[in-house]
Amino acid sequence: MKRLVRDTAAAHRIKDLYDGQCQTCGIRLVGANCKPYSQGAHLKPLAEPHNGPDVERNILSLCPNCHVRLDLGAISIGEDWSVIERVAHTEPRTTLPRLLIKKGHGLHPSYAKYQRDWWDSFAQEETGA
Ligand SMILES: [Zn+2]
Repeated sequence: MKRLVRDTAAAHRIKDLYDGQCQTCGIRLVGANCKPYSQGAHLKPLAEPHNGPDVERNILSLCPNCHVRLDLGAISIGEDWSVIERVAHTEPRTTLPRLLIKKGHGLHPSYAKYQRDWWDSFAQEETGA
């Protein structure tokens, strides 16, 4: 799956809201210029065939590792905002038990469900279920 790299106003607002902190592992990367670095990650991807919306309720502030994990389905977000590690290859566990969510984010559970269901469907195909 090809990820569209877009630095939109909505992504900027979310990255600013979290001051560069990753919502799934808590790391805050800071460069030599003292500026935090994070990426705006869409739960329901913008690309085909998903066509997710570029709105704050569909965007997470993530570090590059967690962004890739989300896009590969290595992690998903549960109904209770728990961080689910679908394949526990990472030792020690580097993700938080629960997503960090700040007031005013307006994150919508339907987008987390979309990402979760999408990758669940692949997991079932592989086991022949
Ligand atoms: Zn992270």
